[in-house]
Parts: sequence; structure tokens; C-alpha cells
Amino acid sequence: MTNLNQALFDRASLTSPGGVNSPVRAFRSVGGTPRFIKRAQGAYMWDENDTRYIDYVGSWGPAIVGHAHPEVVSAVQEAATQGLGFGAPTRAEVEMAELLCTMLPSMAQVRLVSSGTEATMSAIRLARGFTGRDLLIKFEGCYHGHSDSLLVKAGSGLLTLGNPSSKGVPVGVSNNTLVLPYNDVPALKTLFAEKGDQIAAVILEPIAGNMNFVRASFEFMNALRDLCTEHGVVLIIDEVMTGFRVGLQCAQGLYGIQADITTLGKVIGGGMPVAAFGGRADIMAHMAPLGGVYQAGTLSGNPVAVAAGYTTMKLIQAPGFYENLRAKGAALLDGLTHAAHAAGVPLSTELEGGMFGIFFSEQVPKSFADVMASRVDLFPAFFHGMLDEGVYLAPSAFEAGFISAAHTDDDVAQTIDCAKRAFARIANQV
Ligand SMILES: *Cc1c(COP(=O)(O)O)cnc(C)c1O
Repeated sequence: MTNLNQALFDRASLTSPGGVNSPVRAFRSVGGTPRFIKRAQGAYMWDENDTRYIDYVGSWGPAIVGHAHPEVVSAVQEAATQGLGFGAPTRAEVEMAELLCTMLPSMAQVRLVSSGTEATMSAIRLARGFTGRDLLIKFEGCYHGHSDSLLVKAGSGLLTLGNPSSKGVPVGVSNNTLVLPYNDVPALKTLFAEKGDQIAAVILEPIAGNMNFVRASFEFMNALRDLCTEHGVVLIIDEVMTGFRVGLQCAQGLYGIQADITTLGKVIGGGMPVAAFGGRADIMAHMAPLGGVYQAGTLSGNPVAVAAGYTTMKLIQAPGFYENLRAKGAALLDGLTHAAHAAGVPLSTELEGGMFGIFFSEQVPKSFADVMASRVDLFPAFFHGMLDEGVYLAPSAFEAGFISAAHTDDDVAQTIDCAKRAFARIANQV
């Protein structure tokens, strides 16, 4: 039988760089041929060869109610019949903004955009416009989209300026971003003592899902909140991944901390291009057309996209929604841990709401350095072991996993069964 995934990948590589529209889809860090997805329903995806997978990527988080949920699909169809977009305000945007501001106490006002990258990029511009300062602090291992200010890695020392982590980012831009180790309170205090009055904003993932799954400590979050307040620095909590994924109160709710600006994406779009940034009213008042910080978008608040997001946001408010996700996730991780240990493979796990992490290490990592010290070398063979068994994990050791309301106990049991064989395949490398 011809491999239709391979055939499409070959074709795609002729007209698209690397054959994909976003790099991690190309399977570079795990090897092999990307699966070209034909359709998805509930917890499953089917590729071009009609092979079925139990999906733990969920479109990188948005598919929290399961793929192609009938209520979401019908809301999208209904919206589409009214016209695909107008470039003028709509009722749906008002309802979406009201819903977000009601659900997230730190959000007095919000602006809708079309991607997480846009949300973080605009939040940073707003923080700079609001404070009249230029410096931005981010943390090692956190990802906030691909805008210039954020594609920056640490320089050689604590107080040195950041270096671009991508070609094409001017040093003049990266110079304004400082990168600190995650969860390092002393480093944070030192930097604030030195440069506190020049810092416009600190941005972080409260649970860093772009280095697999690393939680901020309570101590770290509290120190951040206190230092930002003390020095008039805007605290941007990037909840593009964690927002409504870890719980109805987002990660901020878990820590009992309020952001000055929150960025959202992924779940709030329900699989369509919707993201948002919002926060304190006095800060948001600096946005055009009220204030001098410019930001705009032809597709911002698109009615068809908002219909998918709004309906998803309604569905996640069903009683017991997150308890169910957590129970399924806990059963999955428990089973994986037992299976790994039975095969002599080190494994530690993390879970919050419908987001999880699995590490080939005895202990759960607390920083990017810890993640790098785990046996990430075991991941490609494990990944392919699972894929061959019909389980679709993120094709990278540095991405979180996602479970949806559509995953059944049987899906979880099947996944654990597949993992027993996948762990056995890598046991000789441990
Ligand atoms: C996915 C993600 C982004 C970027 O969102 P895009 O929609 O891919 O541009 C930003 N921040 C975090 C925390 C994310 O997980």
C-alpha cells in the first residue's frame, strides 16, 4: 500500500519550507514522516492512510471538549451562514469579551486577536507604552510566540542582555529582553534591585508547557507579584496554553495571583484563530483608539472563529467538567508510571486539569536545566513506539500533553496498554 502521508509530505516539501506551516509539525526532533490528518472526532484523529490515533495533542490544547464537538460545529455553521467576517463590530465579540472578563477576575477589559503570538506581542507593546520603559524580562524555557522581542535566549551572565534565538532578530531588539532562569527567586531579586526602574514588563508561563510541564513555585509567583507591584512593572501572565486548560480560574486562580495583563489563546478559540489580551482597566485605557498604543487586526474577533470559541467556553462550564478531565488524566499518568517502572524506565509525571507532562526522570523538573538533564534521548523511540500503536503524542519531548472530555476510560486503558509495549522497546537503552 502506498503511504499517503509520505506522498503528501514529499509534495508539500516542494512548495512549503520543510513541508509544513509550523516547524514542530515536521517531526524533526523525533524523525520519521509527519502524519497528514484527514479528520478528527472526539478523542481520535485519522491520517491519510486511514490509520486511527488516540490524540493527546488536541490541536496543541484547544480541543478540550474533543474534536468536532457537535455543538461547536453547529455554532460555526450557523455563524458562517450569516457571513464570514465584516471588519465591523458584532454582538458575538461583546458576548465573548463579557464572558472572558467575568471568568477571569484580573481582566477588566480585553481585546481579541487571532493568535497567541499577536496577544503577547501586543501585551508587551502595551506594557511599554503604559510604563514608558523598554526592558522586558522572560524566563528560560518559556515560549510566548514568535515575535522579535521574545525570540531571545540568555546572554552569558545574569545581568547581560539577551541574544537572539532566531536569525533575523536584530540585536537592537534582543538587547531589550533579559532572560532569567525559571523559578530562581534570588536571580529575580538581584535583577530587580539593579534595573527595577527600567523594566516595563515581566512575562511568564505560570505552568511552562513549552518545556514539557514545569510549574512555577508559589514562592516564585509571589515574589514576582510583589516585585512587579513594588517597582511599577507590568506582570504579564501568559495563559495562552494554561488559560481554561488547567481549570476555570486559569493558572492565576491556582496561585491566587492576579496578572496586570493576561494573554489567552488556544482553548478560547476552540480550534479556531481566536486569542486575546486583557487586564487592568487603567492599563487597557492606553490602547488605541482610546490611547496611544496602536494595535489592530482585519480578522480580530472574526465572527465564525468567535462562535467556536464562545461555544467551547460555555461547554467547559458544565458541572464536573475539570474533575472529569483530572480523573482521566490521573488514571492515564498512574498507568504510565506503573508501566514504565515495570519495564525499568524512569518516569515522573505532572498533571493540572487537562494538561499533563511526562518526563524520563526520577523527579519532576523545576527548571529548563532540569528538563535538559532528563533522558530526553529516550523520547523519539518512545514516541514512535506509541505512534505505531495508534497513540498520537506531541512530536517533541518539550511539549505538554492534553486530554479532552471526549477521552473515555477505555481510551486511557488502551493507551496504557500501548505504553507497556513502547516502554519495553526502549528498556534496553536505559
Ligand atoms: C502557543 C503559545 C503561544 C503562541 O500562540 P500562537 O497562537 O501559536 O501564536 C504563546 N504563548 C504560549 C504560552 C503558548 O503556549
